[in-house]
Amino acid sequence: MAVRPAVLITGASTGIGAVYADRFAKRGHDLVLVARNRGRMEELAARLRERDGVNVDIVRADLAAPADLAQIEARLADDARIGVLVNNAGAAAPGSFLDQGPKVVGELIDLNVSALARLTASVAPRFVREGKGSIVNIASVVGLAPEFGLSVYGATKAFVLYLSQSLHLELGPKGVYVQAVLPAATRTEIWSHAGVDVNTLSGVMEVGDLVDAALVGYDRRETVTIPPLPDAQQFADYDAARLAMFANVAQSQPAARYREAM
Ligand code: NAP
Repeated sequence: MAVRPAVLITGASTGIGAVYADRFAKRGHDLVLVARNRGRMEELAARLRERDGVNVDIVRADLAAPADLAQIEARLADDARIGVLVNNAGAAAPGSFLDQGPKVVGELIDLNVSALARLTASVAPRFVREGKGSIVNIASVVGLAPEFGLSVYGATKAFVLYLSQSLHLELGPKGVYVQAVLPAATRTEIWSHAGVDVNTLSGVMEVGDLVDAALVGYDRRETVTIPPLPDAQQFADYDAARLAMFANVAQSQPAARYREAM
């Protein structure tokens, strides 16, 4: 039987990442858990080692801190046992763009964008050399909807979707699977960190259901998985509209509606 690859999961101390750890352990994968809260990861690792007999490594790292991030980049580049990267660590921030200011905006981008892109860039060359490997990126439906008012958070998630779709095109033919997962509201601590009481929201998914559905999409090798969306055709139509529009943008002249005012 083929050896199952180890799975490195960022943000594995709680929420969506901790459930990914639970589910991949149940499938018999060894794990590398990455987050800042070592105690929580120790507790999770002990339970999974005991229940599933898998090896679980814990790496305490603040992915917004360059030295810590470099350590995870090196591990991904060099450790050939790791065949799946789950880029899950992410944060939202309270308040509007004006409330947040440059420091918070920068921190959100460091974690949600830079860390995710750098970790992906660290592992992708090895996966391509090996002709196999999977990269799961946790985006959000917010990345499709500026109307939600979560400006920078939503923009970071739009980046994750775009990067995933691009890498699907670039790495897919080289044997590497790339999935973007777009949850909507899911019951985790991210809401309280962002100053929102999750109990005031409607249509909130339980985190186990979210990850189980995302893993169905993973097993089906979907490029974009939106667990709460009832009709997959709606996203297909949205994507098709984008492609139809794009067919018209290679023009040597500005559009007539601008030309007539030039
Ligand atoms: P969560 O419960 O707050 O968990 C976030 C995880 O990321 C924790 O394990 C946290 O661990 C880790 N993390 C945060 N900052 C970190 C840092 N600087 N360095 C390393 N690890 C860090 O949130 P969640 O809802 O599970 O979120 C997981 C992903 O799903 C995020 O990318 C989020 O944007 C996305 N998402 C969530 C929802 C939702 O409604 N919950 C919806 C759409 C998308 P430590 O504190 O121990 O570091």
